[in-house]
Amino acid sequence: MEQVLALFSGFSWLSIVDILVVAVVLYRLLMLIKGTRAVQLLKGLAVLLVASISAQFLDLVTVNWLLDQVWKMLVVALPVVFQPELRRALEQIGRGKFFTHNTLLVKRETSIVIGQVVRCAQLLSKNRIGALLVFERQTGIQEWVETGIKLDAVVSSEFLVNIFIPKAPLHDGAVIISEDRVAAAGCFLPLSENPNLDKDLGTRHRAAIGITEQSDALALVVSEETGAISIAQDGKIARHLDESTLYQTLERELQPTPGTSSPHHFWRWGNE
Ligand code: ATP
Ligand code: MG
Repeated sequence: MEQVLALFSGFSWLSIVDILVVAVVLYRLLMLIKGTRAVQLLKGLAVLLVASISAQFLDLVTVNWLLDQVWKMLVVALPVVFQPELRRALEQIGRGKFFTHNTLLVKRETSIVIGQVVRCAQLLSKNRIGALLVFERQTGIQEWVETGIKLDAVVSSEFLVNIFIPKAPLHDGAVIISEDRVAAAGCFLPLSENPNLDKDLGTRHRAAIGITEQSDALALVVSEETGAISIAQDGKIARHLDESTLYQTLERELQPTPGTSSPHHFWRWGNE
């Protein structure tokens, strides 16, 4: 009993804060990587760790040496392989703390954009016209705007529908919407390489998921095959959205909420 008490005597409020902070951070990290390719990586690392500990325990000198080399190599390889994820995580942390966003400026404009986009998505869906729309948020996605044709046009449902009409010059690829402007069309996005994705997701849907793995952008897909409307975010995709869910999701994710630094920031990771 005394030993237990002695253990707790070193405990202070700071220790509790300490533990809480670590718990929250770990929880957010787990939520962030849930369902992404980082999960596979973690499993692989866990297996390696068990192997290393066993090898040390059993004194297997050569195996130990080999595993040591693997760990050394991983230290170099991991940041390279997971550069997009790491960049995004760091950006989100930075933004959540230090950036303030001008929320008043875009509130009304965002409403108009959302209204036009929802109307466009429904028209396209009804007519089975495939489309891919990306909404830039805090992470700059200029490098993908560059892959298409720059437009800098007002967002209107008629204009967007026109872009995606089959055989129209810009129908192939993605439209990128930045604030309340159509920044570009015909953009080529990175395809997701997540092996856990549904096998029936084609390249349009994989491109939508891909851009959300590399940035905090939101991507809207209208399927040419089924007319289904989907939204990709944080490397995950929600499919077969009805009008009201689509509208609510766009409002929630794109509309800046007063009092927070951005509509989408570090501390909201867990709420998805
Ligand atoms: P759908 O349900 O509409 O058929 P899908 O997910 O099955 O979609 P595909 O049938 O492969 O996808 O869709 C092909 C179209 O997706 C292309 O014509 C092109 O417009 C778009 N697309 C494919 N790859 C990319 C990419 N990397 N970036 C942007 N758009 C892409
Ligand atoms: Mg297809």
